[in-house]
Amino acid sequence: MRLRNVTGSRDVIAASPYVIHEPELLKGKWKEHFGNDNPVRIEIGMGKGRFIMALAKENPNINYVGIEKYSTVLLRGLEKMAADPLPNLCFIRMDAEDIVDIFDKGEVDRIYLNFSDPWPKDRHAKRRLPSHQFLERYDIILQADGQIEFKTDNKDLFTFAEEEVAESKWELKAITYDLHNDPIMSVGNIMTEYEEKFSSMGNPIYKYIIKR
Ligand code: SAM
Repeated sequence: MRLRNVTGSRDVIAASPYVIHEPELLKGKWKEHFGNDNPVRIEIGMGKGRFIMALAKENPNINYVGIEKYSTVLLRGLEKMAADPLPNLCFIRMDAEDIVDIFDKGEVDRIYLNFSDPWPKDRHAKRRLPSHQFLERYDIILQADGQIEFKTDNKDLFTFAEEEVAESKWELKAITYDLHNDPIMSVGNIMTEYEEKFSSMGNPIYKYIIKR
């Protein structure tokens, strides 16, 4: 039986053991939650979860938290997790605007942003996940040597993201304008649902890795 047929997506999420229902209670306590001292890595805007589930499966000694704003989308990740539960992965349904209420200073080791919504209107720029407003939030929760990895096929969004980095204390550690043909950065690349769709249409994939 597919979970989304059982009842409304919010009800399924409320009953799911894979979702953290009061994540603010875990602020500063994520390692206790996972029961180990392993690093905590998060994906913001995980969509249906293919990327973070593959990472969690490949790296049992790293803890992962997938964050998604919409319950109807998160539901698809829960279906996959129910079929193949992973002890080092959990999910939060929330708007990442409030991320600093969930993770303590330096509690996160790495942040993944994949095919983030472009919000093309200027007045919505602060909603873009690689915007300077979000970089300031990431600066708080990310440990000193932590990094952010961002990929997209949207040229305008990527140009915007590069400009935000140039005007900040963040530094580019690596960048490519054609990830799938980059001999170094393509190594170990895990495709997201959107990445598969847009690269199959011939779109190049842009990616940066930034640190402070
Ligand atoms: N990362 C997935 C992929 O590459 O296939 C999904 C990409 S989809 C274009 C962007 C996702 O980010 C959507 O599921 C959206 O709901 C989520 N999202 C956008 N803004 C968000 C926010 N502020 N907090 C949490 N999730 C967000």
